[in-house]
Amino acid sequence: MVNFGFIRVYSRPFAVKFYLRSSAVGLVHFPGTKTAKFMALMAKDVHFASSITDENHITDLVRFTERTFLTNSPVPFGAMVLNSSTGERLVRTVNNSRKENDPTCHAEVRAIRLAGKKVKHPILKGYTLFTTCEPCPMCMAAILWARLDRVVFGATIEDASRHCHQIHIKATEVVARSDMKCEVIGPVSRERCYKLFTAPVMIKTFEFWRNNRK
Ligand SMILES: [Zn+2]
Repeated sequence: MVNFGFIRVYSRPFAVKFYLRSSAVGLVHFPGTKTAKFMALMAKDVHFASSITDENHITDLVRFTERTFLTNSPVPFGAMVLNSSTGERLVRTVNNSRKENDPTCHAEVRAIRLAGKKVKHPILKGYTLFTTCEPCPMCMAAILWARLDRVVFGATIEDASRHCHQIHIKATEVVARSDMKCEVIGPVSRERCYKLFTAPVMIKTFEFWRNNRK
């Protein structure tokens, strides 16, 4: 997020357009901010703050994920795939590893599988994946293989690891070591997403998982 005093600009594409249009007609200037520096910041690929829309989508996803708290399989991990241009939702789902006895059934992998079936193609170019938690290396690899445009995440791997096992490789690191590209945005609404992990029902569930590891 860039704070220009009177306006917070969240979206990189929006910010670039806003800057170019506004400065062209002399409407605004950014004190202490050189154009080149500003544009370089805007061009930065990863870990740039989200757009307001991204935050809205994450909030929707949190609400959807919270619904599992009312079931006998509560999970803090939810994911959805949206059309990158229109924001139209293609699919959304949650982690289902326990129910399916399948460790690969992370929310992101399930969302990619469902999305591929829906568009009848393994390549999801033109789509963005939202997830309540930073993708683990398995999920980030699947995101890259699916050629998704962007991934927007809420809580971080470090946040999740306070409650359950994680693999400590950042999503951006997986991207950096890949031949494929994917923009990684996050953390977005981190606090809101982290509350999924600290909800009383999840604290109990994590404890149950810990005690029932073979
Ligand atoms: Zn994963």
